[in-house]
Amino acid sequence: MPGGRKAPWSGGDAVSHRLTQLDLEPLPLSHVASQDVEYAALAGDPPRLAVLAPLGGERALADFDGERSAVAGGTLLVGPRSPRNLAGLRRRLEWLRPRPLGVGTSAGFGDRLGLATPGHIRALRAVGGKIAPIFAQQSIREMTRTGRAAQDVVDDAVWGAFAEGWREGLGADADHLKTTEDVDRCLAAGFTTFTFDPGEHVDPGADAADAASLRASVAALPWADLADDEAALRGRYLGRSFDLDHLRIAFDEPTLLRAAAKYGRAVAHVARMERHLRRAAGTSAVEVEVSVDETDTPTTPAEHLWVASELRRLGVRWVSLAPRFIGRFEKGVDYIGDLAALEGEMAAHAALARHLGPYKLSLHSGSDKFSVYPIAAAEARGLVHLKTAGTSWLEALRTVAALDPALFRAMYAFARERYETDRASYMVSGELRRAPLPDDVPEGQLAALLDQLDPRQILHVTFGSILSRFKDSLLGLLRANPEAHARNLEAHFVRHLRPFAS
Ligand code: ZN
Repeated sequence: MPGGRKAPWSGGDAVSHRLTQLDLEPLPLSHVASQDVEYAALAGDPPRLAVLAPLGGERALADFDGERSAVAGGTLLVGPRSPRNLAGLRRRLEWLRPRPLGVGTSAGFGDRLGLATPGHIRALRAVGGKIAPIFAQQSIREMTRTGRAAQDVVDDAVWGAFAEGWREGLGADADHLKTTEDVDRCLAAGFTTFTFDPGEHVDPGADAADAASLRASVAALPWADLADDEAALRGRYLGRSFDLDHLRIAFDEPTLLRAAAKYGRAVAHVARMERHLRRAAGTSAVEVEVSVDETDTPTTPAEHLWVASELRRLGVRWVSLAPRFIGRFEKGVDYIGDLAALEGEMAAHAALARHLGPYKLSLHSGSDKFSVYPIAAAEARGLVHLKTAGTSWLEALRTVAALDPALFRAMYAFARERYETDRASYMVSGELRRAPLPDDVPEGQLAALLDQLDPRQILHVTFGSILSRFKDSLLGLLRANPEAHARNLEAHFVRHLRPFAS
């Protein structure tokens, strides 16, 4: 616990004494007063919530479940960290309500275990600067594999922010949504950023297709959904060039047909998803990210321009866009590819985002790309979102390696068994044959496995399998050692955030 400071309850020491009698210890950073009511998170497994209402202010307690007692002239409620009590906190403490972040520099901290937010917050504080955080971020795929509901993801992140005393606002990103049912589920849970992934509607064959098959693909586009026809499309692009800073993009027929064949159905799908979201959200504030990062072939600047122009024409509003960049943004490791070429591409994508938006460039699989950050920060000029997820899971495993080597070794052995199956939906190049066998690694070297590409990716993508077998022991260990866990996360994320903090 930071400091050992006491929470400064009003009414002197009476509340502290009562909590001590109950063997409960407030997390000092969490203590906060709002409209004469005081709140604090109580340490322990499970953690609990304390709410102190003044005499005459007991109405505030109607939002919370728990045991009430008279103390210091008011009423003290001690209750569980339950969904209802979290909803009460969000209702009464507006900075805990997820909100859209807009186009300023931001970072997403996907947290598969729901225990990482305090470490993320410490890293944000350590680097200073203005990076707007998304602490609740999970794809439907991750929710399925971790066995978490959308509401768990929001609740865990909000609790972490409350416990750590974060009052500067937070976002919640429902990541890689593919259907309108996904949208409804996540809207109901309080998510405010919706990342649409139309990857299944991107045609991976378009890059290599010949002129005849491109013409056939374009003729077969869902023109009604696109509120368009082929003649109008040609009229908008062919023979025209678009000047953006240093960049001139011109559309000849092959360029236009390839962009339309590759992304036409994706554009129609995003427009459908966005219309559904706006209708379902009503007056609630929400924002949209568009991501095509999980597709086979890179998004050229001309294709980016085409996609953004067409979405705009269809009235879609978005705050960030994730192209599929050149090279390999693999899970959990640094960029693999030609950095100079990536720099040129990022300059073009960033110029497009400035001129067609402004909106942010979103870096998906953004963790551990330490060689890319200076480039992205320089080119995007503040219009950037860094999205990370599995790297926090790996810091949880690093914590396990230090605290319970036998448990870590068993997890690693199981991850190796599962890797060939579990890797299917991820961009990874790690190979079992290059990764050390569990019994060959001395105890003191186990954590170092997390610094080698092959074992790192093996442990990264098998999280669902590992959780299916080891969830209780893993969570129990981390809950019992929150400081060790937070220290690892803080050290790791300072390296991610510092290039974007200036
Ligand atoms: Zn992604």
